[in-house]
Amino acid sequence: MSLSLKIKRVPTVVSNYQKEEVGRRSGGCGRNCFNMCCLPGAKLPLYAYHGVDSTSDEKAFAELEDADIPMAFLDSLILGEWEDRMQRGLFRYDVTACETTVIPGKYGFIAQLNESRHQRKRPTEFRVDKVLLPFDGNKFNFTKVGQEEVLFQFEASENGEVQYYQNAPIDVENSPNVVAINVSPIEYGHVLLIPRILECLPQRIDHESFLLALHMAVEAANPFFRIGYNSLGAFATINHLHFQAYYLAVPFPVEKASTKKISIIDNCGVKISELRNYPVRGLAFEGRNTLQELSNMVSDTCVCLQENNIPYNVLISDCGKRVFVFPQCYAEKQAMGEVGTELLDTQVNPAVWEISGHMVLKRKKDYEEASEENALRLLAEVSLSEERFQEVKALIFHSIFCSLNEEALDSEEDVEVQFAEDLLGMKLKQQQGSHSAMVAGTHDCLVMQ
Ligand SMILES: [Zn+2]
Repeated sequence: MSLSLKIKRVPTVVSNYQKEEVGRRSGGCGRNCFNMCCLPGAKLPLYAYHGVDSTSDEKAFAELEDADIPMAFLDSLILGEWEDRMQRGLFRYDVTACETTVIPGKYGFIAQLNESRHQRKRPTEFRVDKVLLPFDGNKFNFTKVGQEEVLFQFEASENGEVQYYQNAPIDVENSPNVVAINVSPIEYGHVLLIPRILECLPQRIDHESFLLALHMAVEAANPFFRIGYNSLGAFATINHLHFQAYYLAVPFPVEKASTKKISIIDNCGVKISELRNYPVRGLAFEGRNTLQELSNMVSDTCVCLQENNIPYNVLISDCGKRVFVFPQCYAEKQAMGEVGTELLDTQVNPAVWEISGHMVLKRKKDYEEASEENALRLLAEVSLSEERFQEVKALIFHSIFCSLNEEALDSEEDVEVQFAEDLLGMKLKQQQGSHSAMVAGTHDCLVMQ
């Protein structure tokens, strides 16, 4: 897309320091922020997660259960710290007072009335035609949050066992992963996972960060705790790498959707399916063996979408066992003037939660009139067309395939990869060292036909 598309959007405030109201605090810059000015000497709880790939290794799982710190400890840590911040009045409103209902119909969409989340604030211009933009230190980012908004550090354990330290120093040199509150919560326990916060990474998925998010889902060990990701152009509002997560005690409609298996890749153990009869076209990834494999395949997919400038959303569900990826085109349609005013007037941004079936509504009117039909009307504008989805799917599989090919070359193992015949309209079969045909793609790699 060569057009420079811009739309006016009212951003949601996710931190109390986003408004640039300087408070009076002791030392540093005076705001007790999460940056070099205020961090020296600061302490924060540290949760060290089980470093071993826990879904692959039954023994490791058993060890995890036998460990002094029970597996659900992370779950109670998140909620305990979150409630503490609620008592300290750090949230902009009481999310537990927001009305929620399940919309009658076959999907079971959930509607929430949240009038506070988007009120006031001056409009900001966001570019919506770029999925990747460089980090801009002048804009709001998470190093500007108050330290009281940060709940704990989340790091891999050095000895492979879960560990917890109430008062751990902050290792500034190694840029910690942190979990912070979202001061404009969508639901109970709404937090942000910010990988290597001090490195100021832009909103862009990489293999290491995605694996971190998966570990968080596994260790929280609560099926009601989901982790989501919005790319730029798919309703991320801050260009500083972050995942969101919250608790919702009902299934998301997407979790109940039927799927059609597309492929099983030998020696890999990740099942990839396509959603069926769901209003937004998307892919579901399920780990069979290891967390690392699942993580790699989803990361390859996200990287492919980013590099091709395709906005997307990701939902990590089922305690890290299942991941949904949705390429989307709502912002593009919006910028081209293709979305009807009735939908635009609702000001609902179809990010990962809405796409997964949790509709966060801003106007009482829309809440009172919430219906499956209205939800479907919104989601229809989000989904890629069948034709475009097939194109995007082909791009994704091409890059997954290239990545497996590279891994195989590295490990010098023989690999045989088989995709379902309908995948790219051809059967791909590949064995190391014998290339006979090339399929054009964005990467330089060879695919046997
Ligand atoms: Zn500071």
